[in-house]
Amino acid sequence: MLYQSTRGAIRGKDFYDVLLGGLAEDGGLFVPETWPQFTQDDWRSLRGLSYAALAARVIAPFTQNVLTLPELEGFCRKAYARFDHPSVTPLVEIAPEQYAMELFHGPTYAFKDVAMQLLGHLFEDALQKRDQHVTIVGATSGDTGSAAIEAFKGRDRVSIVILHPYGRTSDVQRRQMTSVTKANVLNIAIDGTFDDCQDLVKAMFADAPFREEVALSAVNSINWARIAAQIPYYVRAALAVGAPDRDVSFAVPTGNFGNVLAAWVAQRMGLPISHFCIGSNKNDILTRFILDNDMSVQPVAPSLSPSMDIQVSSNFERLLFEFLGRDSALCRTTMQGFRQTGRMAVPTEAWHAIGTLFKARRLDDAQTRAEIKRIFESSHYIADPHSAIGIAAGAGNQKPGTPMIAAATAHPAKFPDAIEAALGFRPDMPPALQDIMQKPERYDRLACDLGLVQDAVRAHIAADAN
Ligand SMILES: *Cc1c(COP(=O)(O)O)cnc(C)c1O
Repeated sequence: MLYQSTRGAIRGKDFYDVLLGGLAEDGGLFVPETWPQFTQDDWRSLRGLSYAALAARVIAPFTQNVLTLPELEGFCRKAYARFDHPSVTPLVEIAPEQYAMELFHGPTYAFKDVAMQLLGHLFEDALQKRDQHVTIVGATSGDTGSAAIEAFKGRDRVSIVILHPYGRTSDVQRRQMTSVTKANVLNIAIDGTFDDCQDLVKAMFADAPFREEVALSAVNSINWARIAAQIPYYVRAALAVGAPDRDVSFAVPTGNFGNVLAAWVAQRMGLPISHFCIGSNKNDILTRFILDNDMSVQPVAPSLSPSMDIQVSSNFERLLFEFLGRDSALCRTTMQGFRQTGRMAVPTEAWHAIGTLFKARRLDDAQTRAEIKRIFESSHYIADPHSAIGIAAGAGNQKPGTPMIAAATAHPAKFPDAIEAALGFRPDMPPALQDIMQKPERYDRLACDLGLVQDAVRAHIAADAN
């Protein structure tokens, strides 16, 4: 399996090039040159396998040439052994033919663990085989940073530095990062906003000598390996409710479009999925696009579902590329136009084709609280604000006779205030979250200054090497 950029200038990369490279050098996103196909019998043969065994078989076509199936299965076993539920991503029936697919049983209680835990093992293997060391740098307002730290703490050949805005993350989210005291992990609290943190990371990547000096790398949501690692749970859930002998639908609360893109890839590989329902909060660029072909950037507004407070859904470029008939020149000009004008000119035909497959629904904060209440009153299920938006998007777009599976992306205990406002009580804290509230924290606090941050990264690498 080889990979190319959506913008056409880069081709012939293998899975580990793409894993370590992140973004393609021409500014595009990596996609497989062809999509693997599974027959109905191939899907049926996955029934009854453990999560790790199923995941390895679904991901294997994408890692061809760099990993054997037993190697990949070994990494999946180690990655998913850290989940606190035996089926890793269990399905809970919340209404007839409506399910919550719980993706939050990993170490940080949000769905990003599912991909990130596997990436930790894949990075270590790739770097060992290539005899390299990298420094992963990222900015976070919440879930991504802690998932990355949990996946990479204590790993050989990787130093990791995560920037968060000082005083602007929730207590739980900050402590999930800063209570990790492994030598290869550095947390930096920046005096500034999340956007300031992200600008610092971009500036570090743009500084070519620095990028080379410390071998910068990233594990952000455009990394193809993260998408690949998110396909198996869609397969497992579909099989559990009767696929491939019947169609299923998925509903996904969406920010960067990575999670729902993985569901689309499963369909592209031959899994019979009827349609996809996207949920968004008041940052509703995707819903406006699906309903009105209005992909225009507006200011980001904070909401009850902070992991979806996003205006540019970076993974959308991969879907666009496919619906433009894999025309990389047109994809490039469309994306450049979007960057210049803040509005994406998607040809009407492509928009129609996307709209027959993708439905969308937007919920503001009051509607999100009402949905949390509705779900609890009808099924005694406690959905966090992100999951509630996904469930609502699915419930509003269900086809009779087709099961609807909604991705539950975060544990409600990560959002106790929102749950209390909706339901009048606070959700139980899992023991691991109670623990971190007692542990000592460790982080640097720095002004929003590129030079200071770069010096801190250098000092961290030097200390980690000893
Ligand atoms: C990241 C995240 C999302 C959004 O997922 P995308 O892949 O960016 O669309 C939704 N819910 C939670 C809890 C998340 O952490």
